Amino acid sequence: MKSTQHPKIEFFEDNRDNHGDIIIILKSGWCFDKQGEHLGTYYDCDEAREAIRLVKPCTCPECLAKEETKMNNSELKKVKRINMVDSIKLDRTITCLEVGESWKNAHQMWIAHVDWMTSSQQDRLTAQLYAAAKLGEQKRVVINDRTFMLVNMPKVK
Ligand SMILES: [Zn+2]
Repeated sequence: MKSTQHPKIEFFEDNRDNHGDIIIILKSGWCFDKQGEHLGTYYDCDEAREAIRLVKPCTCPECLAKEETKMNNSELKKVKRINMVDSIKLDRTITCLEVGESWKNAHQMWIAHVDWMTSSQQDRLTAQLYAAAKLGEQKRVVINDRTFMLVNMPKVK
């Protein structure tokens, strides 16, 4: 199993010859079953492969901090040039990172998945995302283990 070159894998070790497990550590921004779970041990290749297939975006504090550092270096200058304008035209397209689906706006998402959150949670989600967008920040909001963010940020003028 050649997993060392997998884009989501940081570290791979096969210890089965020494009666051990296959050990996999994911790159920053990815996790296994639970948020923040970057390390997995497996009995065989099939089990490891299945776990890798189910890898999802990780938004644990550690991963977010790393992403912010990256953003500070490259994006921050651009973001700062976006003025705080109340009448800013927002593209309200929203996406859920875990399912990879997107909707025209948060309300459409809620209508499609009413079991994901309450109506007031949806209102709060909308408010948080739009307020951040007006400041040029592509905020991620986690509700019931699902991460939401706006797909497009306001253009720099
Ligand atoms: Zn993480």
